[in-house]
Amino acid sequence: MYPQSPLMGQMMNQPLLISGILEFAARHYANSEIVSQRVEGDLHRYTFRDCHRRARQLANALEALGVRMGDRVGTLAWNGYRHLEAYYGVSGSGAVLHTINPRLHPEQLAYVCNHAENQYLLFDFCFLPIVEAIAAHCKTIKGYILLGDADRMPADSKIPNLLCYEDLLAAQTDEYAWPRFDENSASTLCYTSGTTGNPKGVLYSHRSTVLHAYASALPNVLNVSSRDTVMPVVPMFHVNAWGLPYSVPLSGAKMVFPGPALDGKSVYELMEAEKVTFSAGVPTVWLGLINYALQNNLKFSTFRRTVIGGSACPPAMMNTLIDEFGVEVIHGWGMTEMSPLGTTGGLLTKHMELPKAEQRKILQKQGHAIYGVDMKIVDDDGTELPWDGVAYGNLLVQGPWIAARYFKDEGGDVLQDGWFPTGDVATIDPDGFMQITDRSKDVIKSGGEWIGTIDLENIAMSHPAVMQAACIGVFHPKWDERPLLVVVRRPGQDVSREALLAHFDGKVAKWWLPDDVVFADALPVGGTGKIQKNKLREQYKEHRLPTA
Ligand code: ADP
Repeated sequence: MYPQSPLMGQMMNQPLLISGILEFAARHYANSEIVSQRVEGDLHRYTFRDCHRRARQLANALEALGVRMGDRVGTLAWNGYRHLEAYYGVSGSGAVLHTINPRLHPEQLAYVCNHAENQYLLFDFCFLPIVEAIAAHCKTIKGYILLGDADRMPADSKIPNLLCYEDLLAAQTDEYAWPRFDENSASTLCYTSGTTGNPKGVLYSHRSTVLHAYASALPNVLNVSSRDTVMPVVPMFHVNAWGLPYSVPLSGAKMVFPGPALDGKSVYELMEAEKVTFSAGVPTVWLGLINYALQNNLKFSTFRRTVIGGSACPPAMMNTLIDEFGVEVIHGWGMTEMSPLGTTGGLLTKHMELPKAEQRKILQKQGHAIYGVDMKIVDDDGTELPWDGVAYGNLLVQGPWIAARYFKDEGGDVLQDGWFPTGDVATIDPDGFMQITDRSKDVIKSGGEWIGTIDLENIAMSHPAVMQAACIGVFHPKWDERPLLVVVRRPGQDVSREALLAHFDGKVAKWWLPDDVVFADALPVGGTGKIQKNKLREQYKEHRLPTA
């Protein structure tokens, strides 16, 4: 595809393969631990050496089942050691790991299994009812593998060809040489959550995954080292847990998997017991953890750093983590189509002398591009906009771990002149820090002008009585759409509509002020822990604004 120089370099041309990561970890950090809160209820611990041994047994088992290069193998599983074995055993053998979000609707689960043409499905036994519900509709699956011991196998089940993972492994040796093949071969398949229309598949390659793992471990990004204990709270079915199952083993750090126990108390206790130093997750999960720690007057003894992303990290959350708990917050931005990391927040040397409030404004931006990702903002005609921190436009990205198309060409040609349109609206400042103002589908179009909802939500959440807030556009006869703020109050706290509106005074332009506030008991949250604004828009579509 690219021209060759008359003088080519003379270095070893080794393909970048996912198996190489675990092989490295098992050889050079053999005794680093992997601790898992199991669906069985107990805590499991072993090392990278053990994980590598079992991943090779799995590769042998898959071969015995007839799984070949390029075949898709699905997983329906929480974060845990068996899921990690599948990450390496499946992809490492040349097959393609399709991680499935168990929170999808059964119809969507069957849809993605059929679309991916999965040959086998590995699943945690707690998902047995889901598998029973979809099995009859999954046309390509030859067998269902329950991730557990024989004593977990149901006595009678309608599931055809139900196999036991531990039995399959026990029948195999760990003698297995990871195959070498073209690094551009497919390794992993993830579907977007499909808030509009059917989910679309993003097909990663070994090369894209390894490059993303290298880059994401860098100091400016996640800064993972062999002295860390890393707890991926973000699920392994949500964009490969942001690459942590790859970047952590290559760094030699200890890993702690929380399994299904994602409530504040469970996460806190596991963090303390296993001395977790670094974690990653979406804001809704941290909300639970912070509330639990605050209510019980607890501090963290080893937890020092976290990445928060997937949706905007509310400044109030960032401030609490830094000021109350001494936890450094790295704001991260990305998406399924980007493997997922695109930018991470942080300060430059010149920012170190700034007052705290100014520093926070920088940290609250979604951050600086990671080497490997290029980005630009354009207007609706595709004209590039300046990096002045003011002009906002559609954010486009490019790079070796960014999707060029969707699986089976769903959605056709998606690139614009070689750039991937993210669907986000953003500013970029002269230092290269990007800030998302909104998703293009959430932006409120008021009289032809755009109102960014993230800013309004952050202001609402800076009120002490507000726990969560979401801003949506609702119909207005004169302006087409105006902002409605939906608020969940903190337990035991009160604030009136008027007091909340007064809280916005002087913080945004007058015409950005929400036209109304409604209070709710909870906000609808989707499969990846994000607030579902489409549901809110549906719920409040008949809401009459007092200004209408
Ligand atoms: P889905 O689009 O299915 O929700 P993704 O997890 O890929 O799945 O979501 C990517 C989107 O999430 C981004 O395009 C962006 O709109 C939003 N997002 C991710 N991180 C952030 C962040 N730090 N701040 C604001 N929005 C974010």
